[in-house]
Formats: sequence, structure tokens, C-alpha cells
Amino acid sequence: MSNNDTGSSVAPDFFASEQVITCHDEATGLRAVIAIDNTTLGPGFGGTRWRPYASPEAAVIEAQRLAAAMTLKHALADLPYGGAKSVILADSPTALDGDERRSALLAFGEFVARTNGAYIPGVDMGTTPGDMRVIEERGGRAFCDEVDPGPYTARGVYAAMRAGVRHALHRDMKGVRVVVQGTGQVGANLARFAAADGAIVSVADIDGDRAQALADELGATVIDPDDAPYAECDVFAPCAVARVLTTDNASRVRARVVAGAANDTLDSAEAGEALRAAGITVVPDFVANAGGVIQVHAGVVGWDEDTLTAALERIGDRVQDILTEADRRGITPEQAARDRAAERLAGATNGQ
Ligand code: NAD
Repeated sequence: MSNNDTGSSVAPDFFASEQVITCHDEATGLRAVIAIDNTTLGPGFGGTRWRPYASPEAAVIEAQRLAAAMTLKHALADLPYGGAKSVILADSPTALDGDERRSALLAFGEFVARTNGAYIPGVDMGTTPGDMRVIEERGGRAFCDEVDPGPYTARGVYAAMRAGVRHALHRDMKGVRVVVQGTGQVGANLARFAAADGAIVSVADIDGDRAQALADELGATVIDPDDAPYAECDVFAPCAVARVLTTDNASRVRARVVAGAANDTLDSAEAGEALRAAGITVVPDFVANAGGVIQVHAGVVGWDEDTLTAALERIGDRVQDILTEADRRGITPEQAARDRAAERLAGATNGQ
């Protein structure tokens, strides 16, 4: 079995997180994992992912990895939250609906409430703003209970993509060949932004009809989802699944810039090194895809639209800084970003 997002040959490292809570509710059959990675900057905030897993271990590993990415994301976006994530183990690929769904979410809400605010869930793959409202019925706090953050994430990813293209290719988006893998909430909006600025867009999705509908709307081309990471293009935008770029496939990537929304795009630091050695600029996913959590925070503290827009655009400035620093230090952008996040966490620990 591979170490991908559905199964893992690696044992969980339970103590890599501040707290890992496994949840079981006898009445509904709910099985869930809440991973609270780090609360140095504030309560652990991160979405609830609801999907099938090959094993309970795979679910724990996914919750912990995604929670750790949230710690980095919040630290780099200057947000007052720690990193956390939860997963609900689905028994089948088909989502529950109606009373069964509501009962499972109420049971999960009970476990969230018991964390006493240490964990704040939000929307992720397989959950909706309506689900967050059900979770809140048990007294805990949830974010994203009104707005889906996807479109805001897309705005931030696009700012990151433009910055990556400016840095690596010294040009704006007109005529840049962009391949978007995954045409969901984020990917579709990202493709629209790129097309509106004159990029030559190709899209890929395992849901062929969805990809075709977007291509028809934008005058874009549809490509095979399996070929998307290796397509001849300037920018590859992974907006679907995790760990699409690996040490095994890095040599096949033709893009000059990788900038997308998918968490955990690189399967390892070595994959990042291989891409850097090949002259490919990889924008760290946890910097690029912070638009959603920035929008959530804007709602919490009551920012107006202009303040939110400015904060989303700052993702581009941050990417520019990180890419410049990575070049100067001869390290990967991911490492440069991780070092910055570590500095912010250390500063907060020391009361700065
Ligand atoms: P989504 O579920 O709306 O869309 C994902 C799309 O990817 C679907 O159309 C699906 O059919 C397609 N897909 C799945 N596997 C594929 C494959 N192997 N090849 C091509 N297409 C495939 O999800 P989303 O909200 O657009 O999020 C996209 C990615 O960005 C996810 O990895 C998510 O974790 C990440 N992300 C999303 C947000 C957000 O605010 N929505 C924030 C941060 C990160």
C-alpha cells in the first residue's frame, strides 16, 4: 500500500500532534478523528473531511498531516489560530443524507463541544456550511457555517500563481499556458481568473462532464486527468487530491511553475528538492491556499470587503518574498516557508 491519501503503510506518529482524539458513537456508528497539531497561536481551527479511508490508521495520519499544514498556514497568514483538522470515516463513497447525516453530525458535534473550544471545525471535502450549523447545535463553535470558503481560496491561489509566474517567468498571465487539475470549487474559479487574464487554459477532472462544462464556458481544452501533472505547459495548478508530485514522477513535470490549492502537493521534501533541481518553481500549497481561512477570519472579526481583498492579494506578496528568499538561500520555497512559520511560532512562544 502506498502512503497516499486513502491508505498508508506508515504507522501514525500520535505524539507528533499536541492532541489526537479518536471518537466513536455507538448509536450512530460515527467514527472520527480530531487532530489538534499546535495551539501556540490560538485555538486549533481546521476543516472536517468526510470520506472513506482504507484503515483507521490512514484516517489518523491524514488528520495529523492536514492539521500540521493548518498550523503552517495560519502562522504564515498571520492569523490567530492554531492548526487542527478532523476526519469522519465514511463507510461508503456515497455521502450520508437526511436523518442519518444529521444524527452523525450531532454526535460529532458532541465531541467537538467536549474540546471546550480547543478545536473549531470548518468546511472541507465532504462537508458543507449546513453541516457546520448542525455541529454547532451541540454547543461547540464551528466556522464556515454561512459561506463556502472555496471561491476565496481560489482568489488567493490566483494571487499566488501570478506571483510565481512573475518571479519565475518574468511576465503577466497573458498567453501563459495553465493546466488546472480538479475543476471543483477552487479549480473552476481559478481557471476562470486565469482565462479572464488571457491565459491559455486546460482543465482535467475525473468527472469528465464537469471538466467539459468548464472548458465549454471558457473556451479551454480538456486533458486526461492522469496526464495533467506532466502536460506541456507553463503552470501546473493541482486543485484535486494530495501528493500528486513525488520523487518518482518529478522528472516528468514539464511546467515551470506549480501553484495550486491542493494540500500536501509534494509527497516529501525530496520531491521538492528534485523539482527545484529541475528549475521548477513550486509555490508552497499552505501559502497559496490560505484565502479560505483568511475569509473565515474576516467574517469572525468583521472586515469589510476591501480589507479582505487586500489580505487575499497579500498572499501574492508573501509568495514573492518566499521565492526570493528561497533563491537567495539555495533552498526550496517550501523550506523557506516552513522556516518563516517556525520563526512566528517561536516568537509567539517567547511572547513577542
Ligand atoms: P472540490 O471537491 O470542490 O473539487 C475537487 C475536484 O477534483 C472534483 O471536481 C473532483 O472530481 C476532482 N478530482 C478528484 N480527484 C481527481 C484527480 N485524480 N484528477 C483530477 N481531478 C480530480 O474541492 P475544492 O474545494 O475545489 O478543493 C480542491 C483542493 O484544494 C482540495 O485538495 C482541497 O483540500 C484543497 N483546498 C481547498 C480549500 C477550499 O477552500 N475549498 C482550501 C484549502 C485547500
